[in-house]
Amino acid sequence: MPTIAPPPVSRLPFPYRDEAAVVAHSLAALQGGLDWPAVISAAAPWVRAVREQPAPFWAMESLLREYPISSAEGLALMRLAEALLRVPDAETAIALTADQLGRADFEGASEGTPHRMLASLSASAISLSKKFLPEFASSSENPPGVLQRLGARTVVAATVRAIQLLGRQFVLGRTIAEAMSEADGQRKGATQLRFSYDMLGEGARTERDAERYLASYRHAIESIAAGRKALSPFSADGISIKLSALFSRYEDAQRERVFAELLPRVEGLIDLAATANLNLTIDAEECDRLELSLDVFEALAAYIARRHPLWQGFGLAVQAYQTRSLAVIDEVARIARAHGLRFMVRLVKGAYWDGEIKRAQEGGLPAYPVFTHKHHTDISYVVCARALIGHAEVIYPQFATHNAGTIAAILQMARASGTVAPDGSRASAPFELQRLHGMGEGVYREVLKDGSVPCRVYAPVGEHRDLLAYLVRRLLENGANSSFVHQLADETVAAEVLLASPLQAVDTLAFPLPADLYGPSRRNSTGADLSCMAMRQPFDDALASAHVETVSHARAEEVTAAMARLQGGFAAWSGRTALERAALLRRAADALDARCPEFCALLIKEAHKTLGDCIAEVREAVDFCRYYAVQAEERLQEQVLPGPTGESNVLRLHGRGVFVCISPWNFPLAIFAGQVVAALVTGNTVAAKPAEQTPLVARRFIELLHGAGVPEDAVVWLHGAGETVGAALVADARTAGVCFTGSTPVARLINRTLAAKDGPIVPLIAETGGLNAMLVDSSALPEQVIDAVVQSAFRSAGQRCSALRLLCVHEGIADGVIEMLKGALAELNLGDPALLATDVGPVIDGEAFGGITRHIERLRGAARLLGETALDSSVSLNVAHMVAPVAFEIARIADLKEEIFGPVLHVVRWGPGQTGAGAALDVNAVVAQINALGYGLTLGIQTRIDSRAQRIADTARVGNVYVNRNMIGAVVGVQPFGGEGLSGSGPKAGGPHYLYRFCGEQTVTVNTAAAGGNAELLAGLS
Ligand SMILES: Cc1cc2nc3c(=O)[nH]c(=O)nc-3n(C[C@H](O)[C@H](O)[C@H](O)COP(=O)(O)OP(=O)(O)OC[C@H]3O[C@@H](n4cnc5c(N)ncnc54)[C@H](O)[C@@H]3O)c2cc1C
Repeated sequence: MPTIAPPPVSRLPFPYRDEAAVVAHSLAALQGGLDWPAVISAAAPWVRAVREQPAPFWAMESLLREYPISSAEGLALMRLAEALLRVPDAETAIALTADQLGRADFEGASEGTPHRMLASLSASAISLSKKFLPEFASSSENPPGVLQRLGARTVVAATVRAIQLLGRQFVLGRTIAEAMSEADGQRKGATQLRFSYDMLGEGARTERDAERYLASYRHAIESIAAGRKALSPFSADGISIKLSALFSRYEDAQRERVFAELLPRVEGLIDLAATANLNLTIDAEECDRLELSLDVFEALAAYIARRHPLWQGFGLAVQAYQTRSLAVIDEVARIARAHGLRFMVRLVKGAYWDGEIKRAQEGGLPAYPVFTHKHHTDISYVVCARALIGHAEVIYPQFATHNAGTIAAILQMARASGTVAPDGSRASAPFELQRLHGMGEGVYREVLKDGSVPCRVYAPVGEHRDLLAYLVRRLLENGANSSFVHQLADETVAAEVLLASPLQAVDTLAFPLPADLYGPSRRNSTGADLSCMAMRQPFDDALASAHVETVSHARAEEVTAAMARLQGGFAAWSGRTALERAALLRRAADALDARCPEFCALLIKEAHKTLGDCIAEVREAVDFCRYYAVQAEERLQEQVLPGPTGESNVLRLHGRGVFVCISPWNFPLAIFAGQVVAALVTGNTVAAKPAEQTPLVARRFIELLHGAGVPEDAVVWLHGAGETVGAALVADARTAGVCFTGSTPVARLINRTLAAKDGPIVPLIAETGGLNAMLVDSSALPEQVIDAVVQSAFRSAGQRCSALRLLCVHEGIADGVIEMLKGALAELNLGDPALLATDVGPVIDGEAFGGITRHIERLRGAARLLGETALDSSVSLNVAHMVAPVAFEIARIADLKEEIFGPVLHVVRWGPGQTGAGAALDVNAVVAQINALGYGLTLGIQTRIDSRAQRIADTARVGNVYVNRNMIGAVVGVQPFGGEGLSGSGPKAGGPHYLYRFCGEQTVTVNTAAAGGNAELLAGLS
């Protein structure tokens, strides 16, 4: 019987806590418990010994000394290590190598160093490469001459070999058998060595990936069990598993599926590991998976208590860099006691620090879930270590670190607690140390000399291709200036400095909180981490009480009356200063920020958007208000202009009159609000017409503006159809400008209407659609491509102007990418957008549904179906207008004729093997053909060749280019949004030039010498 997912109840403290307070608490808890001078005395000899005996050829320490990642060479090496081995075709491999080596200076790097590494391998491969490639690099897309080409191929082959050799330092073997044999070799003469094997690879994106990982974990456990016999999990080799590898949707929003689908897989592995009595540890992943991981862990504990109650080999990794880490340890101990078990807990500092910081900033979260100062993580580590030692009856601690100071601190605490006897002999409650294969060998050689403490080596197993992400993470982690391994390699850092006590708190953060990302003048909008129950609750509550009602359309006379009222209100509103108007926008922004759950609930109910999309939309509206407030303050001030003496010249900007703002249903709050507040802050009064389908959220926003102090005769909400209310507003003689977002045909219609009118010629700001492409070359990482494609093409059911419509994939990786796309499509959840688990909700209405499904039917006959999400009949019965995401392969880029505003992706292959008429052979042809479509909104580029990405961006005629990420979700002031060609008139919304288009301009010239002469000049001369 499958275990039912428990309701999401928080087991842990709030994740976004005040760092200084957490650290102060930790230091207070440690008080007197650690003698740091003694730590230095213990560890300094290790450091000196390591430095006296240079690390072996290719060790991480040597590598970092030669190529710090802060240098161009180190960065080039890391980039090549990440990508080169997976590139299938020579052309791209050559271009990538040329691109990276072209920027680095490898020659001479080995001069004066004792290491053989560069002299023997890198220098011969990489320097040789460089000699061959500079000329080639300058024209890397042009086919080179035969000789040069031969040379380039040789160089690439040598570089590939160099990276393979580098990679081999961090994998124990390509297969588990090879790794086990290597482990046995290393164990000779070092009996306290154990291994924990890690089967390498990217996280699963598809069910097939997950099955592959499951099979490989299973095979590994069986092999370990059949290999060296050991009596207990403490002395046996074991395995480390990643839950994200065993289930492609390992995320909090999918907890029902996690329990139904993932749990049985892990239980199967547990049966094998428990029967063989070896250690199985669950690796720690991103912070937003922590609560889910603990729920899964407890469910597995219950299973173990039933099936394998005597087994003590089940374990979990805990990250000390999380501000909640101590609570996690207490929770694991509680679970152990509750189920009568003893666990192994691996304490690590944490491997995703940079990613966690970025996620918190992007998400507008209230704080960081991890410490921002390295030494705070070190403090947390020792506090957690002490807690683990304190829970010895239910936890076997596994301390995983390469930091000599941290190790010495642990040994001191263990000795003090009696875990290790003062003479070093093992006491009854043991623990172990852990390191990564290929790292920390020098330090551990010294630490393990007395033979008292066992050490387990985390040993990655896999082919070169699977190693890349792991290798790069290690390079990054250890290349950081603050990293112990990095500083150990730098002999200018004295041992005492390297080992200096971390035990002091810093009150300030290392960088601003997410809210302060944009500096003092503009507060970032507030987001929410939906995996955190405390943050999700207000959204659930708001949804429960939200309702939508029907509202009647404005009648013709109401439109006329509104225009008269707005014209009447213009003088007073435009007479206020820009600073006053900006202050009102700020007040509105704060109110909207605070009422985010209420607006989200309305968006879900009225526009059928998923909660994640709704939060992003409310945030965008808040950002628009604050950004345009800042822009108005900075740009609408009088400018004094230079001129001759005896005269003053100033340039002033002012509102034009009544602006008509017409917005679409796909961003019924963000686009609506952006248009309206830009027009208002520049001094115009505004007739605001939302889309016919989504009037309520727009009305609520206008009420909010009025509540913030914007006068009722400065902005009026007018609901109705485009053909009636919209057309009447545009045609009205009082209209001083139109801001429109919608389809290209309607924009043309508005343009013609305005042109046909007598009276002043007024501006039209039009943002329209796009035939947006993503160009993928063969250096791209398929998993990253798929993540970006799924988000860009199918999120919001493809109903974004920026959405991906055309995926152009290099033929060398096309089959693999298409296979993964098919698998990823199969994993999407369709249905009611009010449910957190829903990835894709319905399209907006019956008309949209009809148009999209007709297009899909046409494609079924004319193109090759690549994959689609299954649409459950119960879903289509309960949720109107559901269109299942689908992907088709088409022959040529030019076959794509029109924008289909739904979850339909078109895929084309490009490359020298595509010989059909009109097929794109190289990257330049792809860009030219995309340009020829005539639209110019967004473009995605996926490549590791930096110069190629830059060149494509230079030649593409599009407004927004996104490299190696998704191509949706432009952030106000960060990625100003809007295109060219058929995609719109500009200027970009959320950009520094937007407000000008809403303004009239005036210069005032005063002849200051008119009254008799130039007094100023004469006074200055005296
Ligand atoms: C056996 C083993 C298993 C591991 N398993 C996992 C795992 O399952 N999950 C996982 O996430 N990691 C895992 N790691 C990696 C581990 O988390 C560390 O990243 C790595 O070991 C470096 O820590 P250190 O103590 O050796 O080095 P140190 O140099 O002392 O510490 C470096 C670490 O400090 C932290 N840090 C760096 N800069 C800052 C800063 N500005 N503010 C706050 N903290 C900062 C980061 O965590 C960084 O990795 C494992 C490591 C080992 C040895």
